[in-house]
Amino acid sequence: MNDSRIASKLDASTGVGTRLDPWFDRYADRALGMKQSETRSLFAVANRPEVVSLAGGMPNIEGLPLDFLAEMTAKLIRERGPQLLQYGGGQGEEELREMIVEVMRPEGIRAHPDDITITTGSQQALDIITQIFINPGDVIVAEAPSYVGALGVFRSYQANVVHVPLDKDGLIPDALEETLTKLEREGREVKFLYTVPNFHNPAGVSMSPERRPQIVEICERHHVLILEDNPYGMLGFNDQTMTPLQTLNPDGVIYLGSFSKTFAPGYRVGWALANHAVTQRLILANENAVLSPTKMGQLSIAEYLRSYDWMAQIKEYRSMYRERRDAMTAALDKYLPQASWNVPEGGFYTWVKVPEGIDAKAMLPRATTNLVAYVSGTAFYADGQGGDHMRLSFCYPTPERIEEGVRRLSTVIKSELETVEMFGNPERHTDTGVETPNSNLR
Ligand code: PMP
Repeated sequence: MNDSRIASKLDASTGVGTRLDPWFDRYADRALGMKQSETRSLFAVANRPEVVSLAGGMPNIEGLPLDFLAEMTAKLIRERGPQLLQYGGGQGEEELREMIVEVMRPEGIRAHPDDITITTGSQQALDIITQIFINPGDVIVAEAPSYVGALGVFRSYQANVVHVPLDKDGLIPDALEETLTKLEREGREVKFLYTVPNFHNPAGVSMSPERRPQIVEICERHHVLILEDNPYGMLGFNDQTMTPLQTLNPDGVIYLGSFSKTFAPGYRVGWALANHAVTQRLILANENAVLSPTKMGQLSIAEYLRSYDWMAQIKEYRSMYRERRDAMTAALDKYLPQASWNVPEGGFYTWVKVPEGIDAKAMLPRATTNLVAYVSGTAFYADGQGGDHMRLSFCYPTPERIEEGVRRLSTVIKSELETVEMFGNPERHTDTGVETPNSNLR
């Protein structure tokens, strides 16, 4: 390996691998491009009981009917053990795919089980879709901000992510049109648009009904495939459901669903709904990756869907998360009036614009020292923006802990503002690497 390659490898901020690693010079470029997600690196600290974690997106599954599940699982193993514990097909079990057709019906999707591929959570659907579409350097258009786990996958396949902004009504059609036109003019082909239209992670917003057909029309006109990631769509706090982009152009959209937020993430079952041709490739990619998705998980979920009132469970989740959302917004009103945020109507997250002068990434170690954790907005952009935002999740802590967490955060922000007022913020840099002058920090 020549010196410049070694230097560039050493320069890469990988979060893993150093000269102490004897195999350091053998890794593929894609591995060196991987970095520990900002959420992941926090888990160790955030999981300490004394820390109020507003960081992770872990669902609160305490309300699950554990006795029912225990009996159901015992019965399944007793009666169908050899089947449950055997390998299965790469597309996933037909009996679950048939149930998933029913699960998607309340949102208005009319699907055929043959067009569904079961994956190891929707995270793995993101992985195999990126694998089958992306060559190194290809362009993916994604919302700014975007789900950190998707950005990680896109980076691992060496994609070029081009962000398009969203506002309180979701992805902005004019901005999308402008970006696609510009990329076309530059001769850069866009492989797909990645969007989370419902109860966005991290922005908490949903795409308005008016914008949905506009976004689909723009993509159709520019011949851009849409990857619609929808793990939170059923968690609307007013029992509302929103039109999936998939229903507006079934051939032009790959739709991702998951049981992680509406049932339990431990089963690791999600799915991709796509047209016949894409599905055939997804099945091959799935077989390469896992041979067959978890039979145990799939058949357990199929049985749960058949024998339990799963919709009642989802309604319980909605009201529990709604109460936590209320606790979050009340606490923000009370303790952080100088910040601004959206009031999410579903899902897990509040996206908070921090007061002028605060750098959310730089402040994080001080926050965890003060026993509160969040995710800095920088995690949700491919290009380092986002230091003026933080994601606060309200899914996991109790309402009381949420209030206490926001109170602690307000103390940290207050002392941070005092420091900035007195000394400036040496850690805050503009894109050009020039320090931001103090006068702009107030
Ligand atoms: N997409 C989004 C937008 C998510 O928030 C998550 C989980 N946080 C996933 C996909 C992956 O979820 P899972 O693999 O558990 O289905």
